Amino acid sequence: MALSGLDIFKKLPKTNCKECGFPTCLAFAMKLAAGQIEIEACPYVSEEAKTDLLEAAAPPIRKVTIGKDENALVIGEELVLFRHEKTFVHPPGFGILVKDDLSDSEIEDKVKKINEVSYERVGQVLKANIIAVESTKDAARFTEVVKKIKNLTTIPLVLMSKDPSVIKSALDLTSEGKPLIYGANKDNYEQMAGLAKEYNCPLTVISDNGLASLAETTEKIANLGLKEIVLDPTSVSLDVALKDLVFIRRAALQKKFRPLGYPVITFPYRQAEDDYTEALVAAVYLLKYAGIIVFNSLEPWKALPLMVLRQNIFTDPQRPLTVDEGVYEIGKPDENSPVLVTTNFSLTYFIVSTEVETSRVPSWLCIMDAEGLSVLTAWAAGKFTPERIAPFIKRSGINDKISHNKLIIPGYLAQISGELEDELSDSWKVVIGPREAGDLPAFLKSWSP
Ligand code: SF4
Repeated sequence: MALSGLDIFKKLPKTNCKECGFPTCLAFAMKLAAGQIEIEACPYVSEEAKTDLLEAAAPPIRKVTIGKDENALVIGEELVLFRHEKTFVHPPGFGILVKDDLSDSEIEDKVKKINEVSYERVGQVLKANIIAVESTKDAARFTEVVKKIKNLTTIPLVLMSKDPSVIKSALDLTSEGKPLIYGANKDNYEQMAGLAKEYNCPLTVISDNGLASLAETTEKIANLGLKEIVLDPTSVSLDVALKDLVFIRRAALQKKFRPLGYPVITFPYRQAEDDYTEALVAAVYLLKYAGIIVFNSLEPWKALPLMVLRQNIFTDPQRPLTVDEGVYEIGKPDENSPVLVTTNFSLTYFIVSTEVETSRVPSWLCIMDAEGLSVLTAWAAGKFTPERIAPFIKRSGINDKISHNKLIIPGYLAQISGELEDELSDSWKVVIGPREAGDLPAFLKSWSP
């Protein structure tokens, strides 16, 4: 539960020394409670108080990071049960299972295919995030397979074995890539937690007998000092899994029950009879509330629709998708090429840029930050008006790239053309483009500077 300013104040030194930049400890406490500064800004707070404050400020579902750098998968930190309440935060990682009893060529084939899963949609790259390697034999074969996969991909790994010695052998090869260890249970948790701490890797806790036993083991592991934990409720069927996932989310968010306040890993193939059912089960887990979804296979027919669903569910409903403000080159435009201006709403950008590409007329597309609103909405909201467009065109640098002075505006804003010309100065001529993007190819083909 979040602490109030007064709760925090009680844990501060109360010397009002001002070194944090605030006149009193109380003022500092109020800022800290509002999340506007970090506890580290006070050099005199005790380690014990710092730990308590950081613990109290921790999100109800812990953040877990698997892998490193640009390929890292971040999960957890969810704050709501329903997307419309606010937003979902971290999309679940999609991955595949690779068992070490496969032949080397089968393993290579699986990894090659998962490397190739990548789609660009509304400015985002949708791709697979994880490879779960499962031990079925001994440490020697497991490490051999882990080594092979590590040489074939930069996708982060899940190391799956209940034998700590097998996990350790693979960690010696991969720990710098921060793999997820799977899995600790009531019998091996001390050794597994020891490995997770030693190699600074997150750890999956596997349920032996329902959620109560899962919470019991998780709590013991957390008491050993491990923070990055992932849960596997090992539910026996889809309906039980759905209940478990909802129960875990509710327990963490509504009851602030720390032992279940972690992201969940799921394996839809365990509840599926075939590839098609696996896709359906995965869709259920995606909606309710998986942090990682490990597939038996992730062919394009399965990956693309589920990744689009993932993208849609994890788009913040309060923030339209946007592209960066700037001048975009379509084709190889030159000084005589047409110049178009529109807003930075992703959908607007992609529709307009696609039609410009279709025209095969190289063009300059000036995308203005209108807070992600579409053309008419932005105009109505005062975000895409002559007073704003003119300064944007001047600072965009487009003037240095062209030798003409024509600016094409969306046809729906014909009424602003005169005012925009005034704002831009006499040297510019505003040309009214078509109302519908679909008419752009014909419009551009008849373009002359
Ligand atoms: Fe109080 Fe710490 Fe700020 Fe000094 S630095 S005023 S002790 S909060």
